[in-house]
Amino acid sequence: MRVLVIGCTHAGTAAVKNMKKLHPDAEVIVYERNDNVSFLSCGIALHVGGVVKQADDLFYSSPEELKKLGVTMKMKHEVLDIDTDAKKVQVRDIESDMIMEDSFDKLVMATGSSPIIPPITGVGLQNIQLAKNYHQAKEIIQKAEKATNIAVIGAGYIGVELVEAFEAYGKHVTFIEGADRVLNKYLDTQFTEIVEQELSEHGVKLALNETVEQFVGDAEGRVQKVITSEATYEADLVLLCVGFKPQTDLLKGKLDMLPNGALIVNDYMQTSHPDIYGAGDSCAVFYNPAKTHAYIPLATNAVRMGTLVAQNIAGPKIKYRGTQGTSGLKLYDLNMASTGITEANAFFFGLNVKTITIDEAYRPDFMPTAENVKLKLVYEAETLRLVGAQILSKVDLTQAMNTLSACIQQNMTIEDLAFVDFFFQPHYNQPWNYLNKAALQALEQERDVAVLV
Ligand SMILES: Cc1cc2nc3c(=O)[nH]c(=O)nc-3n(C[C@H](O)[C@H](O)[C@H](O)COP(=O)(O)OP(=O)(O)OC[C@H]3O[C@@H](n4cnc5c(N)ncnc54)[C@H](O)[C@@H]3O)c2cc1C
Repeated sequence: MRVLVIGCTHAGTAAVKNMKKLHPDAEVIVYERNDNVSFLSCGIALHVGGVVKQADDLFYSSPEELKKLGVTMKMKHEVLDIDTDAKKVQVRDIESDMIMEDSFDKLVMATGSSPIIPPITGVGLQNIQLAKNYHQAKEIIQKAEKATNIAVIGAGYIGVELVEAFEAYGKHVTFIEGADRVLNKYLDTQFTEIVEQELSEHGVKLALNETVEQFVGDAEGRVQKVITSEATYEADLVLLCVGFKPQTDLLKGKLDMLPNGALIVNDYMQTSHPDIYGAGDSCAVFYNPAKTHAYIPLATNAVRMGTLVAQNIAGPKIKYRGTQGTSGLKLYDLNMASTGITEANAFFFGLNVKTITIDEAYRPDFMPTAENVKLKLVYEAETLRLVGAQILSKVDLTQAMNTLSACIQQNMTIEDLAFVDFFFQPHYNQPWNYLNKAALQALEQERDVAVLV
């Protein structure tokens, strides 16, 4: 079996490592246009903030390690074309500029995503940076050293992490977002207003509800100002964090995709071509809360899907379980995480939801400290099925969202959750764990409705 893998960051690395374990006789060839594998972009902000001292520490594998496993590593090779009928690819060796052809029995699309560059006047100016790969990370570090005013555009979790890191580095930071809230895909207003307050208290200038209209440069072509719909901000470094798009142009019009180009794969990671598999940011995921395909680019999805490609490459073996898009974030001394759908976004998935929020001490008051935990459950109004949850506390209780992710994956209702057996120990929680308690309150809420009806 000759398997070509295009792209080798998280999905590709997981696929080839497992493939060599499960199918040692398979001929596995990787084409990667970059000069490295397995870079953890999630460490960029930690590097900027000084937590991770060396960008080189942000790799967990290398071309050499994969070669030792028996994988043929074609680094700095870019795949230019895929003939899905003839099962052939055209590849360019970036260093020699030579074009060659290769053929496959199975092909793995692990081509990932690229940051979206919005078509704004002046976007090509120097010091307007993207934050995705190793080389971009190094450029950011180098340019941040000399920068005084930094504008971060896009208030998703990547933007928030970078803002905190630049602020901690002593820079003046302006945080620009077109929507009226930060983190609006992950958290509802009760949570995002706390995050916004925390950012403001640390001196970050929040520019919400503002759309960037133009970047203005100096005589040397370096960015100097950002002009939004509301104001003009000084900026000698700009970070664009406005989202990602799947890199699947090679298969446009040839295979089934979402409108944004994300490949649709079945339970065994096969695309609409049975010999072409997909994994990671190049693909849509099956989003369990909404029971539909969605684009949720996360490393967690990438490593799971890459591993499943290897399991299923020689025939269906292990089924993919879908995702809840669970994610966590630490901002100063706030720990937050979310899973599934928020109340605000339920509408976009055609879901009619109800919610319950509790805000109380996570453990008994007799303990030396007992911080509050704010926990919100989102459930389907008709079925009481849990579809989302959010948590925020000064104590790290983020793992609770992994517990609820499992509950959503298993289609549990708030009644199921109310009576799950969770331990009690005063160091960690109350006799009724906060997850049980929120679900019990949701049930109470439903009972009230029933009584009223
Ligand atoms: C700043 C930042 C922070 C993040 N933090 C988190 C986090 O905390 N948790 C989390 O779960 N996720 C996080 N993510 C998301 C995560 O990084 C991505 O989901 C993950 O990188 C996807 O992995 P992938 O292998 O599918 O694709 P990618 O990482 O996009 O890699 C695709 C690879 O394919 C190669 N390639 C593409 N086209 C070709 C071609 N034609 N020929 C040859 N090679 C090609 C590219 O060079 C690249 O190496 C973060 C992302 C960023 C940018």
